[in-house]
Amino acid sequence: MKMKSAKINAFRTWGLLLTMLGMGLMIAGTAGIVFWGSAGKIAAAIGLVIGLISMMASLAIYFWAGMLSTSAVQLECPECHKLTKMLGKTDRCMFCHTLLTRDPAQATITAEQLESQQSSHP
Ligand SMILES: [Zn+2]
Repeated sequence: MKMKSAKINAFRTWGLLLTMLGMGLMIAGTAGIVFWGSAGKIAAAIGLVIGLISMMASLAIYFWAGMLSTSAVQLECPECHKLTKMLGKTDRCMFCHTLLTRDPAQATITAEQLESQQSSHP
């Protein structure tokens, strides 16, 4: 898993991972009954409960990401010229993972340097 991704994409990745984990646990729990009979019922119950919790957690993360994306700022990425969303003052482009910032103090290069960078690779 890439750590250098946009925050919204990271939330989606975690949500997907938790959903898959939850579904996997529920399937494993059900399979436990098939393979181990009555002894597998306890394992199945634990698997179903943990699976359900992780599914609910993923739902909460999806909901949270949805709430966050409504407050995200939409802007055109200076590097790949696609419309991207950013959270907070610094975030990465969702497409090319370029670091973007709205804080002038955080920006390490000037607009002139950025322009010359862009003209060097059109
Ligand atoms: Zn970009």
